[in-house]
Amino acid sequence: MKLDWHAIDTVLLDMDGTLLDRHFDDHFWLEHVPRIFSRKHDLPLEVAKEKLFALFRSQENTLNWTDLDYWSSRLGLDIPLLKRDVDHLIAVHPHVTDFLLFLRHNGKSVNLVTNAHAKTLDLKLRKTRLGPYFDSIVSAHDLGLPKEDGAFWERLRKRIDYDPERTMLGEDSETNLATAQAYGIRYLFYVSRSSSSMPPAPSSRFISIHYFNQLIPSEGTMEIDTQLACAVPEAIVAALRH
Ligand SMILES: [Mg+2]
Repeated sequence: MKLDWHAIDTVLLDMDGTLLDRHFDDHFWLEHVPRIFSRKHDLPLEVAKEKLFALFRSQENTLNWTDLDYWSSRLGLDIPLLKRDVDHLIAVHPHVTDFLLFLRHNGKSVNLVTNAHAKTLDLKLRKTRLGPYFDSIVSAHDLGLPKEDGAFWERLRKRIDYDPERTMLGEDSETNLATAQAYGIRYLFYVSRSSSSMPPAPSSRFISIHYFNQLIPSEGTMEIDTQLACAVPEAIVAALRH
């Protein structure tokens, strides 16, 4: 596929795992919270994990999944406060700011569209200072639906005026890319390196990238041959650009 940036007006970008390293979220929910929970209830760590992971799974694909107030009351812990214990792990993926600058320089409408709760968004934007790069920042909690729900993308048009045919979406969730595809969003990219502590896992359904610099065309052109630029090792992509 040829990606011609002239054909795209609007860019929608997910936050966790897509622009930011998911290592923070994984560590927080899979290690930090269980440790605190096990201490509080005097449970062995493995038992606490088993109990918590079953609870987490019960809320998958719902807004509760990312609702810090829900988890604070469900677990009897101050989740926003606990996030601050490990906020040094919040990190922007490599090449993200270069990509955001490329989009801004070329007059694209750049939008952060996330399932994250307002309190998570606040903390992460404060730590990463990415906020000023966006024309708008939309939390699914404001729309009342998660991105996993097919009706989300239509409802999003109340907040962002976009033409699905001329829109690109970057995500580390195949489910969310699939709901966007069903709605008609045309340019879909899967971020296969969502966490710095896990090996990249390319998608079999969507064009995969490791980093967003793979979508920045070389000087003097606005086109990318995605077959060359995507799903090939970084070093080759870099070599192709020279
Ligand atoms: Mg994500």
